Amino acid sequence: MSEPSRARPAVVVIGGGYAGINTAKFLDDVADVVLVEPKDDFVHNVASLRALADLSWLPRIYLPYDRLLASGRVIQGRAAKVEAGRVTLASGEEIQADYIVLATGSDYPFPAKSDTDSTGAAHGKVRAAHAALAAARRVLLVGAGPVGIELAGEIKAAWPGKHVTLLDVADDVLGARFRDDLKAELRRQLTAIGVELMLASPLRQAPPTAPGELKDFTVSTESGTEISADLWFRCYGVSPVSDYLAGDLAGARRPDGFIEVTPFLQVAGQDRVFAAGDVSTADHKMAGLARRQAELVAGNIRALITGDGELSSYQSSPPVIIVPIGPEGGSGQLPGSDDLATAERVAEVKGREMMVGRYSELFGITAPASEG
Ligand SMILES: Cc1cc2nc3c(=O)[nH]c(=O)nc-3n(C[C@H](O)[C@H](O)[C@H](O)COP(=O)(O)OP(=O)(O)OC[C@H]3O[C@@H](n4cnc5c(N)ncnc54)[C@H](O)[C@@H]3O)c2cc1C
Repeated sequence: MSEPSRARPAVVVIGGGYAGINTAKFLDDVADVVLVEPKDDFVHNVASLRALADLSWLPRIYLPYDRLLASGRVIQGRAAKVEAGRVTLASGEEIQADYIVLATGSDYPFPAKSDTDSTGAAHGKVRAAHAALAAARRVLLVGAGPVGIELAGEIKAAWPGKHVTLLDVADDVLGARFRDDLKAELRRQLTAIGVELMLASPLRQAPPTAPGELKDFTVSTESGTEISADLWFRCYGVSPVSDYLAGDLAGARRPDGFIEVTPFLQVAGQDRVFAAGDVSTADHKMAGLARRQAELVAGNIRALITGDGELSSYQSSPPVIIVPIGPEGGSGQLPGSDDLATAERVAEVKGREMMVGRYSELFGITAPASEG
């Protein structure tokens, strides 16, 4: 069992995604930080669809944890049971904590998020899916939210001649909370690059093949339209990861799996347990918001540790989104502007560099590796 240091309080951050890495980094100078993460490397999944279409991006989006923290440490492991003050890993190791930050995020179907902890295995899976995509003639993407739109754009940018069908049960792309003119602009750009949009088109049955498997199939919609393809991917389904909550913390897990938090981002009913990022009920599920929450959680823990200052409340953000369609296209809704983000702005903010520079820097990597 690891004991907390007497000199500085022990903060255990569970999950080394966007919320966890930022919380750990922000508290590294004031606490004994332990970051618990099962994966070999941080996965910059914001760029995962680019890496699927262009394998040269793969090494740039898997970043080693070893230079993230100056004095804290990263333990490779999975939290199996978390109670106030104590974390038990799947290995059986117990870690005592003065403060705990739950940052275990969410799962999302491959290829948007990686479903394996080993970087070697994850790369192998992406390479196999890339090879299947390269060989496919007709690709069906089920789900026309941000992930489906972005994947359609990446496929068309890499293989302009490939037939791509983007299908959804909803009658528009993107999701209800975004502006109608943004949805219209995204539809316009998708159609212009030859993506076939099938909206308000529930399928009668799921495709008979596994997602990512190269094999001919035909499915039909409720209205009787047949779709033939030789590859498909599921582009919907965020599921929060919170099955480890136990004891006093179990009650904060909502039936849908998200963790209820207070305006201070403390887990409901707890003073020293916080949650940030996709797993919490604080806001929409975005890496940028996970970072903002991490900053607030770290500030509140710092205030509790030092006794200086009040706790700050989190304000949820208005709808904000950037949706690239390939490296040079897309649109978005950004704060402080009534106009839609132009394709050029989207390319600048995300599409060209996929925000890798900012994360390489955080991980102390000055010249990201590249691969042919
Ligand atoms: C294709 C795609 C593109 C996106 N693009 C953008 C974008 O452009 N901008 C944006 O703001 N957002 C974007 N997002 C959303 C963004 O990726 C998520 O909001 C973000 O990943 C949330 O970060 P997080 O730290 O809460 O969770 P995650 O990134 O899910 O990280 C959680 C971490 O916890 C670890 N973990 C899980 N269970 C345990 C356990 N029991 N013990 C220890 N560790 C555990 C996981 O291994 C993982 O590393 C995109 C998402 C996808 C899928």
